[in-house]
Amino acid sequence: MGSATETFYDVIRRQGITRRSFVKFCNLTAASLGLGPVAATEMARALETKPRIPVIWMHGLECTCCSESFIRSAHPLVKDVVLSMVSLDYDDTLMAAAGHQADEILQETREKYKGGYILAVEGNPPLNEDGMYCIDGGRPFVEKLREMAGDAMAVIAWGACASWGCVQAAKPNPTQAVPIDKVIRDKPIIKVPGCPPIAEVMTGVISYIVTFGKMPELDRQGRPKMFYSQRIHDKCYRRPHFDAGQFVESWDDDSARKGYCLYKVGCKGPTTYNACSTVRWNGGVSFPIQSGHGCIGCSEEGFWDKGSFYDRLTTIRQFGVEATADQIGLAAAGAVVAGVAVHTAATAVKRLTSKHDHHRRNEPHDQQ
Ligand code: SF4
Ligand code: SF4
Repeated sequence: MGSATETFYDVIRRQGITRRSFVKFCNLTAASLGLGPVAATEMARALETKPRIPVIWMHGLECTCCSESFIRSAHPLVKDVVLSMVSLDYDDTLMAAAGHQADEILQETREKYKGGYILAVEGNPPLNEDGMYCIDGGRPFVEKLREMAGDAMAVIAWGACASWGCVQAAKPNPTQAVPIDKVIRDKPIIKVPGCPPIAEVMTGVISYIVTFGKMPELDRQGRPKMFYSQRIHDKCYRRPHFDAGQFVESWDDDSARKGYCLYKVGCKGPTTYNACSTVRWNGGVSFPIQSGHGCIGCSEEGFWDKGSFYDRLTTIRQFGVEATADQIGLAAAGAVVAGVAVHTAATAVKRLTSKHDHHRRNEPHDQQ
């Protein structure tokens, strides 16, 4: 899949991509990372001069949805650009080679780029029965994972499986599937959770590492802050309905048709850190809440074992106010009741006043 000593710019020019498109790509990528025009220039310079970073992409227990998401990124030129940006030396799902030939490439890449490659991991290792529940090339995946991590520069944990364990680690977890940081202890790991992660988030993380030659800033859980520092709820377009106490109470009710907040039908947006409500999916077209279904919290640790997707979060802190949705709803309903009461009282007073005036107008003058 190309030599790692070539620069990214060499490769895209060879593929016939114009300089104008290249500059546009740098500007768009810098913007998607929340960086300014100076960073776009820096990015262009880095991609023109630095050799491409070799990447080894391994698959453990998983469903391949992270690869599916990545290769479907709607980012301009992504299929050419991102796959050219890294030297994807080994990916047993995407590469043409298979079996022993693929294994040879894996070992060659490890030796050739010792200490200089990124290990991207999709899926996780099961530890029970000495790792027998995931065998790769005749060996337990966990063994290969440890070996490849040993010579990596850094490790990326793609998706909920590699980051947290996901459904294959659901209770009672008979295979003892674990997130990769339980077996890789001595390398920096960037967690990019989600089931799958958003394509633009994945390409954004790779673009950052390739451009700046370092890891992006991470939060305490190891997630890149640029994409995981806000809750879905913080930027959700249905938020005004939440604040106004307007909730969908059951599927297909009138409130659902009006696009009210999905909190009461189980939306986990208030406790889920991800970029869905800002970056969205399918090239920014939509995201689950926009399609009428609540967030299931797929980027959060343990989401698979936290009960039904349709159970509502029982207590959440509101912004500046501590209240539950019911209290907000009650307060809003109370305000409406109070408003109606004020309106009724005002109408009554008006009626009384006009009656009084009417009586007064009809009173005999001699009684005045
Ligand atoms: S609870 Fe869900 S639907 Fe409602 S505002 Fe928050 S994220 Fe949006
Ligand atoms: S909206 Fe929630 S459940 Fe859906 S993809 Fe985003 S984080 Fe995952």
